[in-house]
Amino acid sequence: MIRTAKIVHTTCVMDCPDTCALEVVVDDGRIQRIGGAQDHPTTNGFICDKVSRFARRVYHGDRLLYPMRRRGPKGAGEFVRISWVEAMAEITSRFREIIRGWGSEAILPYHYGGSNGLLSDGWIDAFYFARLGASRLARTLCAAPTTEVAMGMYGKMPGVAFEDYRYAKFILICGANPKVSNIHLVPFLRQAKRNGAFVAVVDPLKNFSSHDVDLHVPVFPGADLPVALAMIRIWKEAGRLDRDFLRQHADGLGPLLEEAHAWPVERAAQEARVAPQDIRILAEVYAESTPAVIRCGWGLERNRNGGQAIAAILAMPALLGKFGVRGGGYTLSNSGAAKLDTTKIFGDYAWPTRMINMTQLGEVLNGDLQPPIKGLFVYNCNPAVTAPHQNAILRGLAREDLFTVVFEQVMTDTAKYADILLPATTFLEHQDIRRAYGSYVVGGVQPVIPALGEAKSNGEVFAALGRAMGWQDEPFFWDTHTSMQKVADALTLHGRPASAGIFTAGETQPYDFPGPTPIQFKTAFPQTPDGKIHLTPPALGSSPFHYRPVKSDGFPLAMISPATSKMITSTLGEFNFPELWLTLHPRDASARGIAEGDTVRVFNGLGEVICRARVSERVRESVVSLPKGAWRKSSMNGRTSTALCPADVNEVGGGACYNDARVDVEKLKTTDSSCSG
Ligand code: SF4
Repeated sequence: MIRTAKIVHTTCVMDCPDTCALEVVVDDGRIQRIGGAQDHPTTNGFICDKVSRFARRVYHGDRLLYPMRRRGPKGAGEFVRISWVEAMAEITSRFREIIRGWGSEAILPYHYGGSNGLLSDGWIDAFYFARLGASRLARTLCAAPTTEVAMGMYGKMPGVAFEDYRYAKFILICGANPKVSNIHLVPFLRQAKRNGAFVAVVDPLKNFSSHDVDLHVPVFPGADLPVALAMIRIWKEAGRLDRDFLRQHADGLGPLLEEAHAWPVERAAQEARVAPQDIRILAEVYAESTPAVIRCGWGLERNRNGGQAIAAILAMPALLGKFGVRGGGYTLSNSGAAKLDTTKIFGDYAWPTRMINMTQLGEVLNGDLQPPIKGLFVYNCNPAVTAPHQNAILRGLAREDLFTVVFEQVMTDTAKYADILLPATTFLEHQDIRRAYGSYVVGGVQPVIPALGEAKSNGEVFAALGRAMGWQDEPFFWDTHTSMQKVADALTLHGRPASAGIFTAGETQPYDFPGPTPIQFKTAFPQTPDGKIHLTPPALGSSPFHYRPVKSDGFPLAMISPATSKMITSTLGEFNFPELWLTLHPRDASARGIAEGDTVRVFNGLGEVICRARVSERVRESVVSLPKGAWRKSSMNGRTSTALCPADVNEVGGGACYNDARVDVEKLKTTDSSCSG
């Protein structure tokens, strides 16, 4: 028999810093294997289990293959197949009706990072909703405070490359778990450790063994800011601040030192519920070591003090003069190194409508907003399980007077509430360009198989919706090839023009740093208008670096909802997360008579989640952990972590405050077997 197997190159578009170069084996038009490219500086021939098994999503029974119209109650997931022509006509006529009755701001696009290509988000979709005059969406579920702060302080200066961590002598990991959501950093951490580096992790969860890490500081959620300020106070009092560097390159030092003065080590340790000695060791080893690097993640922004904490932590390399050497400085998001000038493509089109914070979707759908939201278009997103205050969101999605379109790959918890359901291609079925925010590449995405059923890409659908409105604007007539070329023409990689040919072939284009990775303050500099570091950026508001504790309101445990190795936020939850569990510390479990595997109720004033208990010292005392992004079917009462998360927003960037959830737990029944999730 003649085999037709071939290897197709493409790029992972998942919401993950690594942006792997992929090699996909396709045989007879079917995906057989997804692996990592060997000749790639960060992928290095391996990828995560999630994407290596992504074909399971492509061919899954829950895959959406045709447009559908609801025929059962909202949320029941009962639909009847319709044609694309019918779907486009119905969306268009319902949107026109809403605009006539309530104005165009009564329509809200709702989208986040489920499909991250430059042609899949913020492309024709944005042009369509702007042309419609829809409400705008503040994208705050993740990275809003970090982006505001990093932009204000450093203008999103390119950070230390993952492969340069091997040169560091001190590595501090805050608010990140590279073992599940930045796995290509881990080999470089281990290499650094073998080379004698001191590796410290600040996290309420113990994700690394003592073999990998020298110091684990189990900070109480939301209290990273006092720890950072105490370290800064130690340095100031010991005369360790690099005054020459600060004079030359920074401003805004005063408010930071003033607030740090209020945090002696003992006070910070008490607030963060950690040992004072751990804070002293962190401060001492960091100050003594060169190169020293901070891997700052997004976990620590998810509380009311998050933006302030990020600013204090990003100030550290400047305070100690740790820039200027390979492997020294910090890494947050590196997306600022590549610039896409969309005005070159679309011109300077106006979209002056009201802004709605996506974190508050539940309140927005149920409150007295004027005009109310009457039309909701959800894509690249699954708010029924990812946005805070799940009960309010489910109530809102169930509104009979809300016309909801969901454009998705599989039947998610949100898709079940759609009036019109549109089938989306996965990244293995369409063409796109992916700008990394961790590794220094821009990758081409090419279809490795033809689109399944009648699934379409985002670009195709929003262009068709524009044409259905009768609009003649050019972007609604671009094909994918034209779009790829236009992106390439408007994209620069640290100054170097992008190449459409590389992207069309599914290959990756590296950046143009001498070296070839950036060295902060040697080959990469602050991209603020004056080229300086602004240690107290305006985004911090009127009380910069001021700490505000969370009130427990009688719920004694802090709940965090971190990423797991099973899902990318909620993507792959259809098969990869059969059972939800709550992890709690043995002392918290024992105080409540809870044993491993018991059925428990986790609750607060917003809702309750019924699931199984896992008892482990991996989580610190007084903190419980429920995984992020789990689907409703994984829990025993159809509610997941977001049912317990307040919709409060961070004053910096309006970011979501998932980790401000305070809860209690009670045992419902003893269960013999242990968790399988
Ligand atoms: S999710 Fe991350 S680690 Fe997994 S393949 Fe994609 S980029 Fe690589």
